[in-house]
Amino acid sequence: MLLWLSGRQRRATGLPAGRVVYSDHSEWGEIETPLYDPTFNLTGKPDYLVERSDEIIPVEVKSSRLKSAPYDSHIYQLAAYCLLIEQTFSIKPAYGILNYVNQDIAVDYTPELEQSLIDTIREMRSLSRRRNIDRSHESANRCRGCGFNSVCDQAIN
Ligand code: SF4
Repeated sequence: MLLWLSGRQRRATGLPAGRVVYSDHSEWGEIETPLYDPTFNLTGKPDYLVERSDEIIPVEVKSSRLKSAPYDSHIYQLAAYCLLIEQTFSIKPAYGILNYVNQDIAVDYTPELEQSLIDTIREMRSLSRRRNIDRSHESANRCRGCGFNSVCDQAIN
């Protein structure tokens, strides 16, 4: 259901495609505690944070190679981390980084992406309140790779 939503959101608004960046991995610091946003009751922990004097950038590591553009689910996952960072540290990230095996991709956290994420979360919550929608598979791997893992109450972890 969530993946379906993400596909629909992309067609409606157009998500940022991302751009190749050459980031300094020595700047990446691990984060101990999950971030929490009480407004959307959202929790999650990016793999790394890049903390500079005036910005905090989330980094999400993917175990796959990027062949073309990032999946919508990866973009939404990164956007959710940007939202969590803003709520936690009162600093809105300008972008986040998806670290694929073959390259790093920066995805801008645009107002359109933020709104699309919020709309998706609201719609998901509204749908799940109206009826129980069961998970359609038993694959933990699929859930681990899913961008909605942090907001899904049926994730297998
Ligand atoms: S976390 Fe798992 S159950 Fe939840 S939407 Fe993703 S793939 Fe489906």
